[in-house]
Amino acid sequence: MKIFRNISLKKYNTFGFDYRANCLILPKTEEEAISLFRGEIFWEKPLLIMGSGSNILFTSDFKSTILCPEIGGIKIEEQDRENVLISAGAGVNWDNLVEWTVNKGFGGLENLSLIPGLVGATPVQNIGAYGVEVKDTIEKVRAVSIEDGAITEFNNNDCRFEYRNSIFKGKIKGKYLVTRVYYRLTTNPLLKLDYGSLNDEIKKPGDVTLKNVRQAVINIRRSKLPDPKIIGNAGSFFKNPVVSSSAAESLKKMYPQMPAYEDQSGGIKLAAGWLIDQCGWKGKRIGDAGVHDKQALVLVNLGKANGKEIYNLSEEIKKSVREKFSIELEREVEVVGTI
Ligand SMILES: Cc1cc2nc3c(=O)[nH]c(=O)nc-3n(C[C@H](O)[C@H](O)[C@H](O)COP(=O)(O)OP(=O)(O)OC[C@H]3O[C@@H](n4cnc5c(N)ncnc54)[C@H](O)[C@@H]3O)c2cc1C
Repeated sequence: MKIFRNISLKKYNTFGFDYRANCLILPKTEEEAISLFRGEIFWEKPLLIMGSGSNILFTSDFKSTILCPEIGGIKIEEQDRENVLISAGAGVNWDNLVEWTVNKGFGGLENLSLIPGLVGATPVQNIGAYGVEVKDTIEKVRAVSIEDGAITEFNNNDCRFEYRNSIFKGKIKGKYLVTRVYYRLTTNPLLKLDYGSLNDEIKKPGDVTLKNVRQAVINIRRSKLPDPKIIGNAGSFFKNPVVSSSAAESLKKMYPQMPAYEDQSGGIKLAAGWLIDQCGWKGKRIGDAGVHDKQALVLVNLGKANGKEIYNLSEEIKKSVREKFSIELEREVEVVGTI
């Protein structure tokens, strides 16, 4: 297990901020993580658990311990004619796992291609894209209690999945380290192509196959989203707000082109990117903190911005949307540090 003291977090957050942490611990196995939680090695509290920092906005140095699991391994746990149960360690790169499943002909994760981050964060965030949420494939999540190192398995219901949310971000936030995730996939996939421009993009290669769906998703994502290796960002900065049907109807009267979709909750989901764009923010910048010119939902570090500057920009955006639409945007990105 690697342990670093007073380390730069530049490589550990996709905004590329050069804040520092007092201590960074990288356990390679579940046993190493358990030994930490049983007190065999001293570590300072509070503990921040992280994957690759692609959904975190640091706003200052982290004056305590960060733990990033490097637990690897992809396994086929069981397989019959139609179903396959696979598992992956929390430290496996998510897109490597998706590529592996697609190459094996296992369907279910292909629409979630190219989402940055590690496997351990996928149940925490309930990641989603192109009409698919990872909750629909997760069978169980293995996790270790930080309190005493005990292992618990959470089945799909226990995880209380919601839009970009789960029990791991709610009631038990910071109490468990996810070590392994089990995904139920199918060997006879029903491909989902009815979201956004996916149906058009898939027509380019012709055949509707698992590999082509993955490629179509990758093509669309590359054309719209900035690559964090080139321009620092954390993907969608805000969640899409869900409003009541009556609020959505009144807004539709004023803005007939406003995108609006029925949500599972019974409310109406609006596109946060569209609301931000309508307030004139797309492509704007305050210093080096900017709003991406192809997708207003993505805030970007255009050079030397720091976390506080991105945070301040996000506050300005929230204010504009509140004043124009009376809607309170909620951050999808987790803010860590002092403001
Ligand atoms: C360019 C770009 C595009 C993106 N597109 C999408 C998208 O389409 N859909 C989408 O849903 N997200 C998207 N995201 C957001 C991000 O990729 C996901 O939220 C991802 O799951 C975060 O993974 P991570 O490993 O970086 O987690 P981190 O950002 O490091 O952590 C996220 C949260 O999970 C917790 N966590 C991480 N690992 C563990 C663990 N092992 N045990 C317990 N808790 C843990 C952390 O404490 C934190 O609360 C995008 C981000 C970027 C930069």
